[in-house]
Amino acid sequence: MSLTARFSCLNEYDPDALSVDQARTFIRSQLTPVGTPERLALRSALGRVLASDVIAPFNVPAHDNSAMDGYALRHAELSCNGASRLLVVGTALAGQAFAGSVGAGECVRIMTGAPLPAAVDTVVIQEMVQADGASVVVPAGQRRGQHIRLAGEDLAAGQPALVAGRLIRPADLGLLASLGCAEVSVHRRLRVAFFSTGDELCSIGTSLADGEVYDSNRYTIFGMLGRLGCEVLDLGVVRDHPATLEAAFREAAAAADVVITSGGVSVGEADFVKGLMAQLGEVLFWKISMKPGRPMAFGRIGDGAHSAWLFGLPGNPVAVMVTFYQFVRDALYVLMGADPLPVVPLLPAVCTAAIRKAPGRTEFQRGILSQVDGRWCVRPTGAQGSGVLRSMSDANCFVVLEHDRGQVAVGDQVQVQLFDGLV
Ligand code: AMP
Ligand code: MG
Repeated sequence: MSLTARFSCLNEYDPDALSVDQARTFIRSQLTPVGTPERLALRSALGRVLASDVIAPFNVPAHDNSAMDGYALRHAELSCNGASRLLVVGTALAGQAFAGSVGAGECVRIMTGAPLPAAVDTVVIQEMVQADGASVVVPAGQRRGQHIRLAGEDLAAGQPALVAGRLIRPADLGLLASLGCAEVSVHRRLRVAFFSTGDELCSIGTSLADGEVYDSNRYTIFGMLGRLGCEVLDLGVVRDHPATLEAAFREAAAAADVVITSGGVSVGEADFVKGLMAQLGEVLFWKISMKPGRPMAFGRIGDGAHSAWLFGLPGNPVAVMVTFYQFVRDALYVLMGADPLPVVPLLPAVCTAAIRKAPGRTEFQRGILSQVDGRWCVRPTGAQGSGVLRSMSDANCFVVLEHDRGQVAVGDQVQVQLFDGLV
């Protein structure tokens, strides 16, 4: 079934009043991972998506071992109601096990990470123990099994250590290294081609003629794609001329998995982009109930030999970023094979300014979140026009005003979406 037919089947979806959630759900439902896996050296796999499960070939840790510096002993040797004196018969170090046996009335000096000697079941930390010549005196009250890390408690042999779809983060590199994995199978990088449309646009490095503006969208798009680890193909500024635009679309569709454009999807007179998109593939044009970012195109362009997913973003610089983060980001993660998708939580914060808002659309204001008297508070950055890129640059979060929400008064709770994550 064609994309248009699939969309038309959803009879509650109106392309001229699509909610943010409907657009998100529909886009996601159409996409599946692209590309064949490749094997990479461990370090190069950071930020990539794991293509197959990694099963632990052995237990990590491989042996029961001590979690503390102290003395390893058999709990049964300890007196129930008083201190116990035990003879120290040897030492176990990390990487150097104690090979002997621990008999009645005996214990072994043990360091953190050292394998537990046979028959021993308890570690007493050194600070608790009183040394007395070749013996130690252990106070009452020790618990059987204390201060021991069990074999396999981190990763159990035969169990998946990481599963396919995992977006590899620093901890995962360490986890894979602890299994001795020198190489992993990951999805190849997604290829994304992008260009800006508009007769008024001028590229950096050339001087502005009257009425021109510098093209900023290609730089924000470059940055956003770079953070996601995509392979990017920058096709520059394309004039609002049908033949030039057509050549750009064909080149992009042939070379990439995804094509992102900005501008030309509204109803302005010089917007040939919509017509060309419709002609070169199967593209849906939506007016989403949101601000900023109302017009957006989604579909496939290209011929039978090669086609690419298309996101036709609005031209306004803030709208580009909002639509990218609210729709394109997740879509790219799906195409990269990420499962589950990385979560971006909505967190509550107290709004310190009034915001005018009418129900019926989702708004993504740009805000600055900070702690005031122990409470997380957010205030919108200054002017919120969709062309005011500074509002994105100053902000550290989106203030997400839900579809049905009305005015926001000072002190009301709102939801925010943080720009930065820790890892
Ligand atoms: P459009 O969607 O093509 O009608 O563009 C909407 C607004 O965004 C216009 O003011 C354009 O000049 C501006 N705009 C479009 N593309 C860019 C770009 N690549 N960089 C900066 N501003 C742009
Ligand atoms: Mg334009």
